[in-house]
Amino acid sequence: MMRKKMVLITGGAGFIGSHLCGKLLGSNYSVICLDNFITGNLENIKPFLKDRDFRLEKCNVSNYIDIPGKIDYVLHCASLASPNDYLRFPIQTLKVGSLGTHNALGLAKQKKAVFLLFSTSEVYGDPLVHPQKESYWGHVNPVGIRGCYDESKRFAEAITMAYHRVHKLDTKIVRIFNTYGPKMRHNDGRVVPNFIGQALKNKPLTVYGGGQQTRSFCYIDDLTDGLLRLMLSKEFEPVNLGNPCEFTIMQLVKLVLKLTGSKSKIVFKKLPQDDPQKRRPDITKAKKILGWKPQVSLEAGLRRTISWFKG
Ligand code: UDP
Repeated sequence: MMRKKMVLITGGAGFIGSHLCGKLLGSNYSVICLDNFITGNLENIKPFLKDRDFRLEKCNVSNYIDIPGKIDYVLHCASLASPNDYLRFPIQTLKVGSLGTHNALGLAKQKKAVFLLFSTSEVYGDPLVHPQKESYWGHVNPVGIRGCYDESKRFAEAITMAYHRVHKLDTKIVRIFNTYGPKMRHNDGRVVPNFIGQALKNKPLTVYGGGQQTRSFCYIDDLTDGLLRLMLSKEFEPVNLGNPCEFTIMQLVKLVLKLTGSKSKIVFKKLPQDDPQKRRPDITKAKKILGWKPQVSLEAGLRRTISWFKG
């Protein structure tokens, strides 16, 4: 029998990581999941623990990683991706983006594996170009409160390209835009789980600033579909993955109130420093080279997410 391809995923017990573990197991891959559970959750991967093709290693990828055996793909997903988390853990955020990426690249090089870096739309900062194409270099404040996340991901992209150029490593970089869905933590702090949690508890929905800032929300299943396509592609330059339908935070809050039928009020809070005013991916490249585009509308995705939060 042919050996299944082995995928190692760092941060595999997190929101995106655990969905990807499920998708990979369902697509005939073996999976090694690395997580230190700083924001990952064992519940997310519990159903996979009895699968013979799934293995969990509790470790911190900011330290040296030693994994025996053959590995075909290294997916470096580990990160503190919620502004709430990276404000609480700025040093861990910087370390996993820099040292963690270096270690994951070293592992991929040793195993002659394909490497995929999970980067972010935050590399564009508070963008002066709209929508954001991969060719845009961004507008980032290195010393602001988001700098720990943005700059560590920009470093991660730079070192990934250096390994590609110097060691001829087969690397890919995905820039992930706002993504939501089941398995997000109730206390994650990002806007979708905040609004849904608040609406379901009939607590006030907290809009930061005037709510005129925009985001473009991608449903998790659309994202994992794009990630798998990119993993198997030949593209080594960054690729945006996200949903190009753009909404103001006011539009989002009203939609969540409508779909939950909640009687909650809306309260306005201070806009955090360096909060990007607008964000929308240009996905022309992903459409062309991966044949990918999101299928799930915000309303349909929110309905599924709300019913998961209720359970
Ligand atoms: N936001 C909000 N209320 C909340 C949480 C977030 O109005 O309870 C806003 C936040 O200021 C930002 C947008 O929603 O403009 C998206 O924030 P999120 O934390 O989800 O992620 P970001 O896209 O900023 O990384």
